[in-house]
Amino acid sequence: MGQSRYQVVITDCDHGYIEEEKKEFGRIGAELILAQVQKEDDLIRACKEADGLINQYALLTRRVLENLPKCKVISRYGVGLDPVDLKAATDLGIIVANVPDYCMDEVSNQTIAMLLALIRKVAFFDRKVKSGQWDFRQGRPMYRLKGRTMGLVGSGRIGLEVAKKIAAFGVKVIAFDPYLAKAPEGIELTDLDTLLKESDFISIHCPLNDSTRHLIGEKAFQKMEKKPLILNTSRGPIIDEKALIQALNKGLVSGAGLDVMEKEPPDPRNPLLKMENVILSPHIGFYSEESISELKRRTAENVSAVLLGKMPRSVANREVIGKTRASISG
Ligand code: NAD
Repeated sequence: MGQSRYQVVITDCDHGYIEEEKKEFGRIGAELILAQVQKEDDLIRACKEADGLINQYALLTRRVLENLPKCKVISRYGVGLDPVDLKAATDLGIIVANVPDYCMDEVSNQTIAMLLALIRKVAFFDRKVKSGQWDFRQGRPMYRLKGRTMGLVGSGRIGLEVAKKIAAFGVKVIAFDPYLAKAPEGIELTDLDTLLKESDFISIHCPLNDSTRHLIGEKAFQKMEKKPLILNTSRGPIIDEKALIQALNKGLVSGAGLDVMEKEPPDPRNPLLKMENVILSPHIGFYSEESISELKRRTAENVSAVLLGKMPRSVANREVIGKTRASISG
């Protein structure tokens, strides 16, 4: 492969296959190396000739980046960019790209699936029937979905998908999102207190940061007037789990569907694991075979775009524009 125009290194990847990437870099005649390294010195050694990098967990620190003179682009598998020193990349003229929207369909479906499972008590009755009990009264009371109100905390890409889908069930959607200037179609924007008061279902779709950590805590649960169902497919620490357990025990909320938890995997003694009205999944919201293929293909396309002189679809460090190492034609 000594004649390739470009070299691309995948620093690390736990997907078990790289067919999508091979196809993309074959198309542009780039050499592809799967290094499977994560330590600083190993990264520097493995990537020193690379024109482009793809990483998953490997930390691309300033020291690593300063030692990669040819690197023009870093594309991360996924949404979050915490493993990359963005400031260092920008200083060095390296474009950093990601794929922020590869699993919107999956995460929004996970949210709706958990809501339907809770409201129809699917997991509860499954356990009963399989243990020899056939009695609908065990699930009483159950309520109709149509006509209820869903409150979204955060109404970005995934929140909007959830809103569109749940509207087909006749559910009204309200949202608290301090960064939206105007309400997206079909959603009424409101403040957090009103949302807590009026929602029959509260679904979390904001990012985890200093202002959202434990946003849904003891005080928030006390403001919930409709004994709502709580859904979280975003990040565990946005809900104060101790306060949620208390709220479930006191009957302030009717149940919860959680794809994410404060500690993953949870402590086996976590009371949520024993509660009939709580359903859990092991942070699978992002996953389908199709979403992973799309992620891999688009992560690779981000790198090819830059090597061919174009900007990638999603640039995380836009401040780099105008001072990129790669010559970009538009
Ligand atoms: P997004 O950036 O498109 O939307 C997030 C929205 O939250 C934005 O509209 C933003 O204005 C809003 N927001 C920010 N701070 C807020 C606050 N303090 N209160 C209320 N709203 C606030 O992100 P997205 O693609 O919709 O993803 C949402 C979250 O889903 C991600 O942050 C991620 O943590 C999570 N996620 C989970 C999985 C999974 O496997 N379960 C997969 C992908 C994403």
